[in-house]
Amino acid sequence: MIGTETICPREQCTACGACANVCGHDAIAMHEDELGYWYPAIDVSRCVDCGLCKAVCPALHPLELHQPDKVYAAVCRDVQERASSSSGGAASMLGRYVLELGGVVYGCRQTNCRDIRHVRVTEQAGLDELKGSKYVQSDVGLCYRSVKRDLQDGRRVLFVGTPCQVAGLKRFLRREHEGLWTVDLVCHGVSPQKILQADIDLFASGEKMPEKERLYVDFRWKAGYGIRYGIRYRELPEKRLLKSISYPYDPYITAFMTGLSSRENCHRCVYAGSPRVGDLTIGDFWGLGALEKTAMNAKKGVSLLLVNTAKGGDLLSRAGGGFVLEERTLAEAVRGNANLQRASVRPRNKDVFKQILKEKGLEAACRAAIPLSRYVRLAVVEELKRVSPLVALFKRVRLLVNQCKQS
Ligand SMILES: Cc1cc2nc3c(=O)[nH]c(=O)nc-3n(C[C@H](O)[C@H](O)[C@H](O)COP(=O)(O)OP(=O)(O)OC[C@H]3O[C@@H](n4cnc5c(N)ncnc54)[C@H](O)[C@@H]3O)c2cc1C
Ligand code: SF4
Ligand code: SF4
Ligand code: SF4
Repeated sequence: MIGTETICPREQCTACGACANVCGHDAIAMHEDELGYWYPAIDVSRCVDCGLCKAVCPALHPLELHQPDKVYAAVCRDVQERASSSSGGAASMLGRYVLELGGVVYGCRQTNCRDIRHVRVTEQAGLDELKGSKYVQSDVGLCYRSVKRDLQDGRRVLFVGTPCQVAGLKRFLRREHEGLWTVDLVCHGVSPQKILQADIDLFASGEKMPEKERLYVDFRWKAGYGIRYGIRYRELPEKRLLKSISYPYDPYITAFMTGLSSRENCHRCVYAGSPRVGDLTIGDFWGLGALEKTAMNAKKGVSLLLVNTAKGGDLLSRAGGGFVLEERTLAEAVRGNANLQRASVRPRNKDVFKQILKEKGLEAACRAAIPLSRYVRLAVVEELKRVSPLVALFKRVRLLVNQCKQS
């Protein structure tokens, strides 16, 4: 076995999987490093040195990015659909339209907390399983090959994923396909599934709980006052609620939110910014209505929808009947969303976090990397969010500061 470096510099690898998908000799597989971060490794006994893996790698061959043409705040007309989605339900509405056309949708499904991966969906029930942001790196496996087969068979395809996954798919396909729509997520970064498992093991110790195959986790949910982050354990198949541990009391979500557990390359992400890689971009419309008026209720979750290409505009105009759309400005979207401005900043104590994670585990790593005063600050801010007038004031001040920085 030889490592990632033979394809691209390790610190630039996003684990997008384009190399593994393109290798006709199945010589490349993703391997976990000591902490669980995925990197491709080449089985030299299978490799014929054709160079295809290097030829498709998006880290070596950056893709063209597109400046958004239109910006919308979007919510599903279907109340249930909106309530069960992470923000306004934009992903589900687009998916629903593509399925109605007889097409297929690719996205991230959590079968249980041990199995979080990209899958191919052909029915509405499958689409429901894609709902919800899974704040870990989704395993794309050999999905890109399957997308290619679908396109060759003349099917319409919708692919939803992180921008680096969309880039991986596009580089793998190597040419534009009329039948393909890509949707990238505004992305803060991803953390390894192995660290999530460590968190679940912490929860499991000393508690009566089902085996992991029957355990499902939510990473965020809607509370009366807006979005709540944390780890919420549910028992399958009914998804009966077992326990919720909110941010910043759960170590996994705290390490994710503070960027301590993100992949190193996420701190220099080339897709963080307003020029985008997908036909459409979805995210949370943070700050909507804080400085300019809106008719939408932000507390119930509103999706940000960026239209980046003519193809994306075409999909939205066809699927748009399922949405309530409000046209907004790019400046407003960027002002409220840090990852439309720049990549997540590498935390100062990230090396400490990683070292202690290796030696003593997740809880100790968080305690070592996050001073008590920071925990207190994070906890106070979370509590303040429940008191809406204070939240509104807090948001306005933050947005005004961002506005001053932009101008
Ligand atoms: C790791 C991650 C980081 C994010 N960071 C930000 C951010 O910084 N700012 C922001 O505004 N929004 C961010 N988002 C997007 C946000 O959480 C919502 O997904 C988005 O607002 C769309 O919500 P929705 O209601 O349309 O659909 P949802 O119900 O959230 O469904 C969204 C789609 O996301 C896909 N998906 C879910 N988890 C993953 C995953 N791990 N990898 C790839 N695809 C996945 C599913 O296939 C689904 O189609 C992030 C999402 C993820 C997964
Ligand atoms: S193609 Fe993707 S996974 Fe492979 S080396 Fe390049 S960035 Fe890493
Ligand atoms: S050089 Fe060719 S055969 Fe070797 S790992 Fe890369 S794609 Fe596979
Ligand atoms: S931050 Fe960038 S590199 Fe990291 S997962 Fe998101 S899109 Fe990929």
